[in-house]
Amino acid sequence: MKRGDGVQCPCCAGRFRSFSGSGGNARCPRCWSLARHRTLYLYLRDNGLLRPSLRLLHIAPEEGIYRHLRGNEGYVPADLFPGTRSVAQFSVEKIPHPDDSFDVVLCSHVLEHVPDDAGAMREFRRILAPAGRAVLQHPIKLTLAHTFEDDAITSPEERERAYGQHDHLRLYGRDFGDRLRSVGFDVEVIRYSDELSYRDRRRFGLFDDGEINDGDLYVAC
Ligand SMILES: [Zn+2]
Repeated sequence: MKRGDGVQCPCCAGRFRSFSGSGGNARCPRCWSLARHRTLYLYLRDNGLLRPSLRLLHIAPEEGIYRHLRGNEGYVPADLFPGTRSVAQFSVEKIPHPDDSFDVVLCSHVLEHVPDDAGAMREFRRILAPAGRAVLQHPIKLTLAHTFEDDAITSPEERERAYGQHDHLRLYGRDFGDRLRSVGFDVEVIRYSDELSYRDRRRFGLFDDGEINDGDLYVAC
């Protein structure tokens, strides 16, 4: 391999000839990170959000990010379905922590599975300290102005057809940021890969070619 060739996974520091798959589905052959995981990791790293001193609530932790945070004193990983990992178990609709108790909430690809997503957004706002922020990343169909959800759609087959995945409860549109604003957040939308050089986007495999954008970061405070 020539110097400068190949790719690199920021989550696990692995170097490879290429990722498996392409676009948003380009996976790290070692830690299985996708483009969105690598984007999220780079954003957190570059903005000092992996600091051990931060009180950080991480919902449904991605392995490649969890491994960088798990030793931190203020780190609380949580999942409604924890599996074999020792993380707290609760729903984001009712978070068992007091008001103003976190500096950062990390929540990626969760709210499309949550019945009361507005309730979860209110919970994030409640538990965040006044200077805190939530970093959210969700699948969004950018050609859709308004989020599509219909209570009459209940079977896995219908959900797959309507929302693109059998266990999704809605398909977010461009109003995702407005939904956060409606519970009182200020929101900044960051396409972090655009802030990197072409060389780094190529090296870290950050090209998103899908109809559904799942890499943009919604930073809410
Ligand atoms: Zn990796």
